[in-house]
Amino acid sequence: MCLAAAACAALPDIDVIGFTAHRGITHSLTFAVVAALVATLLLFREPLARRTRVQIALTLLVALLSHSCLDALSQYSWGVEFLAPFSQHRFRFVWTPLGRPNGQIFGQLVQEALVVFLPAVVLAWLGLRRRVESA
Ligand SMILES: [Zn+2]
Repeated sequence: MCLAAAACAALPDIDVIGFTAHRGITHSLTFAVVAALVATLLLFREPLARRTRVQIALTLLVALLSHSCLDALSQYSWGVEFLAPFSQHRFRFVWTPLGRPNGQIFGQLVQEALVVFLPAVVLAWLGLRRRVESA
């Protein structure tokens, strides 16, 4: 499950191969929903309870959307096409703490540690804690 979620979190950047604009359709909500459903069907073929399959699909959806949201927190590029293929408008969050175009690498790493890594560790810790308490 963790490998599938990690792969889904990286999947939107498949557009760097060059078949479409970067941060376009592969970063959209539509792509995230379709990719989460396809990945769930392809990677989790064993018989599962319907509720479990839905939980897996939602987890993969969150992984896919996390990529696009993190890209929308950055200052480089022109934003993310969240609504593709229905709109080519590019969005960027109001708060863009990641990826200052002329920033130094150390500063960017510190920003990513504070904005991405630290919250991820806290969420993982909370998830593990909840899992232990419910077991
Ligand atoms: Zn991306």
